[in-house]
Formats: sequence, C-alpha cells, structure tokens
Amino acid sequence: MNTKIRGLDIHMEGIVHLYPSQEGDVVALRGVDLDVEAGEEFALLGPSGSGKSTILALLSGLHRPSAGRILMGEYDLGRLSPSQLLRLRATEVSLVLQDPARNLLPYATAAQNVEFAQRGARARGHRPPFGAQELLDQLGMGHLAHRTVATLSGGEQQRVAIATGTAPAPRLLLVDEPTSQLDTKSRDQVVALLAQINQTLGATVVSVTHDPEVGAAMPRTVTIRDGRIGAEGRRGQEFAVVGKDGSVQLPPDVLERLPPGTLLRVRRHASGVDLLSPELESQETPPRDS
Ligand code: ADP
Repeated sequence: MNTKIRGLDIHMEGIVHLYPSQEGDVVALRGVDLDVEAGEEFALLGPSGSGKSTILALLSGLHRPSAGRILMGEYDLGRLSPSQLLRLRATEVSLVLQDPARNLLPYATAAQNVEFAQRGARARGHRPPFGAQELLDQLGMGHLAHRTVATLSGGEQQRVAIATGTAPAPRLLLVDEPTSQLDTKSRDQVVALLAQINQTLGATVVSVTHDPEVGAAMPRTVTIRDGRIGAEGRRGQEFAVVGKDGSVQLPPDVLERLPPGTLLRVRRHASGVDLLSPELESQETPPRDS
C-alpha cells in the first residue's frame, strides 16, 4: 500500500437522533457535537446503549439524524440523495459491522471477499489502488488469502472483515466493536491492524468499543453516555475539554456528582491546574481536629 489516501474529516453539530417505537420515541443521541480530523485514529467509548452504534450508522449514511448537521470532507450528508449515500458507502466510507459474519461471505475465500468489495467500488467508478492479494499481504494476512472464511478462527474472521472494509481504500473506516468476543491476543492483533490501516493508508479510522483496554491503546477517545459526549482521552488518560465557548466538559461520572451551578475552586501550580470541589472534599476528608 504505497498510495496514501486523503482521510475524511468529520464535523457533527447538534446531532439528535430518535428511534420511533410503539411505547414512544427512544432518544439515542441528545445533542452531539464532535470533530474528528482527517487521518485521525479515534474511538468512541461507552457502555452498551449509550449511542455509539447510532453515531456510526449516521456517519455511514445508514440513518439520517432527526436534527443537526454532519459534514465529512466535501460532503454535507444531509444534502446527499439515497443513491449518492449508497455510492459513498461502497467507495469512500466503509462500515465494518460488529459481527464478522455480517460482513463476510462465509463460503468464499478471504481474497474473494476483498475482491467482491472492490468490484462494488469499481462499479461506482472508484479504483482501489491495490489488488486483493497485495492488500492482504500488506496487512499480514497473505497466508489467509485462499482460506474459506468459514474455516477461520473468530480473530482471523474479524481481521478479514476489517481487510474487506479496507478493500475499496476508503477515506473513512468505521468499525463497530471490533474486539468483542475475542481473546486478548486476537484483540491486540485487531487493535494493531486498525493502527496500521490508519498509518499506512492514511484513512480516518473511527472505532466503537465498550472495552476500556482498547480505548487505552487509542491515540484519542471520546466517552459517550446516555447519548451525550463526555470526556476526552489520550492513550487511556482522561481529560476534561474546554469547548469553543469556554465551557468545560467533564467526564460523565464526575458530572453526575457535580450538579449544575457547583462552584469549583481553581488551583494553579507548576505542573498545571486543578479544579477542586470544596463540597466533595469536605465529604471525603475527615475533619482534622475530630
Ligand atoms: P450502543 O452502540 O452504545 O450500544 P446504540 O446506538 O445501539 O448504543 O443505542 C442507543 C439507544 O438507542 C439505546 O437506548 C437503544 O436501545 C436505542 N436503539 C438503537 N437502535 C434502535 C432501534 N432500531 N429502535 C429503537 N431503539 C433503538
């Protein structure tokens, strides 16, 4: 993979998403603002039901948001027709679904699966700059090329599913829970594969995970809880974010303990700034003279 492609940048603004149901609408996203740079590797972290897969479905154009705007590179997703969205999904944006079996033809070989995805891209005027064998070789899966998918282990199937997602040379690779149900060794191989695709191909790679260990291996994470964006992480360390308007976004579990209007004491010191909650301090520190 000598060719570097131009990754897509992402700008999500005020995204609300509702799923209609018989008992009333389910609010999956409650005003999500999120920016991802072109060529960034990034993970959305959060418990089950927090809205992660909904974000991937919106970014891949599978659903349209109930409100808000999504800009990706030169595309304003809300302005694309269904056929333009289909083209985008076969060429510049790839979505790897959670269960490898849903991404792969089980009785075809790994190489045939990659070729099939490339054929779909070519039919829409997009020319992947590498062949199936070349891609699998580059991604360390050359030895699996002629194996039938159904005979591969779970970890191998997941890596072939990711290679198939990479087949069109997408500018954005979206991967839903790539390590669920994998042992530690397979999990680490998948994490390394995603980093390799990001670094060698140049694609923006967005993964969704509920596994903090996977998050810790990512250059950047954003926590999502109850359809809202929370703290930022860098290689496993958590950060509060100062927004464009100067407001500070705290990790969701911290926010739960600090009701709106809470005063935080600002303490400056040589290595940075601490925000201290006098109320929580007095709850947690036993009085000195008792
Ligand atoms: P996650 O990926 O973090 O597990 P999801 O995005 O799948 O979260 O779901 C977010 C919320 O939306 C959950 O409350 C879930 O039950 C609900 N939801 C997701 N898909 C549907 C659907 N097709 N119909 C109704 N509710 C849905």
